[in-house]
Amino acid sequence: MRLVNQFWFADPANDLHAKFAEFAANYPARCELLKIGTSYRGRAIHGLRVGRGHLRLAVIAGLHSQEPLNAPGSAAFIHTLLTHSGLDGEDLSAWVEETLTKQTLYFVPLVNVDGAARFAEDVPNCWIPNRFHTTVWEELSQCINEPMMTFGLKRGAPGFNRLTEEQVREWTEVRGRRLGWLFTDQGVDLWEDWQKFDAPETRALRDFLFQIRPHCVLELHGHERPSRIYVPIPSARGEAARLQMLYGEEMMTQLEESGLPCSRHSVRTYQYKEYFQEFPDFVNLNLGCLSLFGETCCGLMPDRLRESARTDPLNRRDADSRTPTQEEIIRTVWVWLKALVELGNHRSYQ
Ligand SMILES: [Zn+2]
Repeated sequence: MRLVNQFWFADPANDLHAKFAEFAANYPARCELLKIGTSYRGRAIHGLRVGRGHLRLAVIAGLHSQEPLNAPGSAAFIHTLLTHSGLDGEDLSAWVEETLTKQTLYFVPLVNVDGAARFAEDVPNCWIPNRFHTTVWEELSQCINEPMMTFGLKRGAPGFNRLTEEQVREWTEVRGRRLGWLFTDQGVDLWEDWQKFDAPETRALRDFLFQIRPHCVLELHGHERPSRIYVPIPSARGEAARLQMLYGEEMMTQLEESGLPCSRHSVRTYQYKEYFQEFPDFVNLNLGCLSLFGETCCGLMPDRLRESARTDPLNRRDADSRTPTQEEIIRTVWVWLKALVELGNHRSYQ
């Protein structure tokens, strides 16, 4: 429980800033607290810079409300960079020194900060198994997606990035219901807002990335399947696709070697569709750098998804996968970040 007590965020909208501020106060020469922008509700979106090297990595997470689960592992990894100590106290001084000489690392692990505050109200300790059992896929799905199901809206349809103001008002004020976790309080799905930029959060993240010009962007989400890196992303071709697979496979191999529960499938594209302009594709097409996309297991695999996986060649090896504990989720993100940064040291994200 040590790692959970040290890094898990029960109230991520406040706890992440407190942790980053603590890092910046204790290690002013090694890191810097950043304000990336301001959310729809006026909350600050925080980031942290570590190191001053010429290679720039950006770790982005928390675009969806129910996905603050990648922030604790990011904080644990930052702690390693600042203290030179691994998750079990191992001395990583030489590795950290090499990393911070070569790289500048930017962490923005909670972009949808308003949504994370709402999620913390909906789910005790932001731990989905505290509220849901594996038998209740319908109820969990409603918490994530509504009011899309009720209003007959389809995610991923061309041009879809949000609920209208009228739909948000109808759902929350007239019907008195909770907005689904896919959305910000404004009703925007931040992952799908990369052509329209309707949300202040999306605009802030876009401007930040253009300012720092990263060599690599890793974006992490949380889902109800085993943890997995999904590359190549739909818009990647040729050398860009090969590079994404090289990095993704190594991140998955090191996760598997660590003994943590994870997908047994090789890396592959997350989804296939002609219309693509989600965040990782925006990065690939507009920033021209290595773009990686991963999904960390949220700690719950509903029975319904396990059953469908048994007859689905794309997921069948994972049908009986064990779900990770909170500590294992922290370790998963840490192992992925260590593997990625190590490859960056050796290959310069090329
Ligand atoms: Zn997501």
